[in-house]
Amino acid sequence: MTSKVKSILIDKANEQYTAKLSLIDKTSIPKMGIEVDVLYSTLNYKDGLAITGLSPVVRAFPMVPGIDLVGRITKTTSAEFNQGQLVLLNGFGVGEKYFGGLCQTASLKSDWLIPLPTNLSPKQAMQIGTAGYTAMLSIIALEKQGINKDSGEIIVTGANGGVGSFAIYLLNKLGYSITAATGRVDQTDYLKALGAAHVIAREELSKPAKPLQKERFAAAIDAVGSHTLANVCASLNYGGVVTACGLAQGMDFPGSVAPFILRGISLIGIDSVMRPKADRIEAWQRLANLVDAEQLDKISTEITLDQVIESARQLMAGKIRGRVVVNCQ
Ligand code: NDP
Repeated sequence: MTSKVKSILIDKANEQYTAKLSLIDKTSIPKMGIEVDVLYSTLNYKDGLAITGLSPVVRAFPMVPGIDLVGRITKTTSAEFNQGQLVLLNGFGVGEKYFGGLCQTASLKSDWLIPLPTNLSPKQAMQIGTAGYTAMLSIIALEKQGINKDSGEIIVTGANGGVGSFAIYLLNKLGYSITAATGRVDQTDYLKALGAAHVIAREELSKPAKPLQKERFAAAIDAVGSHTLANVCASLNYGGVVTACGLAQGMDFPGSVAPFILRGISLIGIDSVMRPKADRIEAWQRLANLVDAEQLDKISTEITLDQVIESARQLMAGKIRGRVVVNCQ
């Protein structure tokens, strides 16, 4: 007898795109070497796009969405991990090309997994999710370029978003002074509570950029791209550094080489999806040492698999602030 597990299942037949809570046969999950009971997953913007079908994120059908998960290993063909071990996964095309985390069970490649840091619970890791992990990768990239808390003001764009709000929270814990750029200045109190010293309106940065502007920031974490990134580059101090991870304003980069060749600034790209294992372990260990349980509880809500479809719709409608954690059992 085949056993059934609860899952979100996306399908496309006769040009009809569907996402439903389903009971699927465990045997229908493609075998990747390591089987886990998924304890927690999360709803990222990318998962919202996949579930609602608003953007072509899913590259094979049927598909189980969920780009992040924490699970306990029930079967393993890899000597790297043991049965019973808690493991963490972010990205690698899981939830897009390979069955993902919004299911009670997942089958995963050992190359995709890292051990869950011992000082983080499964739920806490998903409260952080890809958003917090990408913010941490961005901070590590700045540090590798010599930026530290004494370098000067750091600007974070897309401040109310997942990456932006984690970047503010983590930079503040590390002692930096932060300017938050946001389209929601009515959320100033929230951004200041996270750790921003100053809040500016995103409109200051979202129009076409003059090649060189007043030097204002030692470094930047940008999740927005387009004119915003160009304006940030033009406003960096001599030798400044900006990381780019996102495209919330656009995928274009309508900038000038002026700040690169006249002020020696650096632009560092951040990819979390295919990141080597050593970088993942470093970023998650740093996160485990920095975050407080209380703050994570304040910025997240927990739902069950039964509530995922409705929450994904709300996420896409901009009705959710903070992180959504999915209890998959
Ligand atoms: P969110 O949707 O949570 O946040 C994006 C934020 O960007 C919004 O909250 C808003 O902040 C701001 N924003 C939205 N639209 C615009 C606009 N037109 N102009 C300027 N700002 C805008 O997304 P995440 O924080 O999870 O992700 C941010 C970006 O990073 C996305 O593009 C995502 O795809 C990308 N990403 C990339 C990763 C990688 O590996 N490279 C990993 C994770 C995310 P506010 O309301 O404060 O203005």
